[in-house]
Amino acid sequence: MDDEPCVLVVEDDAALAAMLADLLGGEGYEVVVAGDGQRALHEGLSRHFDVIVMDRGLPAIEGLDVLERLRRKGVATPALILSALSNPADRVEGLNRGAEDYLGKPFDIDELLARVRSLLRRHSDTSALVRVPGGSLDVGTRMVTLDGLGMVVLSERESEFLEHLARRPQQVFTREGLLESVFADADDSGVVDTYVHYLRKKLGRACVLTVRGRGYVLGPLA
Ligand code: CA
Repeated sequence: MDDEPCVLVVEDDAALAAMLADLLGGEGYEVVVAGDGQRALHEGLSRHFDVIVMDRGLPAIEGLDVLERLRRKGVATPALILSALSNPADRVEGLNRGAEDYLGKPFDIDELLARVRSLLRRHSDTSALVRVPGGSLDVGTRMVTLDGLGMVVLSERESEFLEHLARRPQQVFTREGLLESVFADADDSGVVDTYVHYLRKKLGRACVLTVRGRGYVLGPLA
């Protein structure tokens, strides 16, 4: 995808959060800020991010707990912990509990940006797990894991279609838009409806919702 990378910044210090948002925004990233653990969990589960930059000491839910919960739900987004707790034992704990990288506060701005870039590079072709309500899709193996209900294997095109919807979970996609982006090589405009049918058959009727007169949107898996 050629969209700008999206970064979730989780930081309860409003001034620091604003500074990070400015800094990362200036680098061309789309930035979403969550000021507490609950919010971070909600954001992390409801849309796709390329990198998470997370403080540890947060209201509601502690940073590493948020990260563990996201990992348990299948969210594999690389995470950089940014914390004043930065002795070796703290760093080891952070890495053991699901973080890919750990930077102590106060931090050097150039180093932070370099580490975020490095996480994006390392994961650009391995961030295979896409969260879908009720499960997750591994785009590498085209395997859908339903929460508590086993696995379903998709065809290549079905997987591409579901991934496209899941990367923008709130967006309504028109048939024309989908024809251009997912089914560009098809010469039959009925192909979108055909694949909606296939996905519903494999993953339950609600997995692709029809928005009358507008198109389709991702729904929950059965
Ligand atoms: Ca804090």
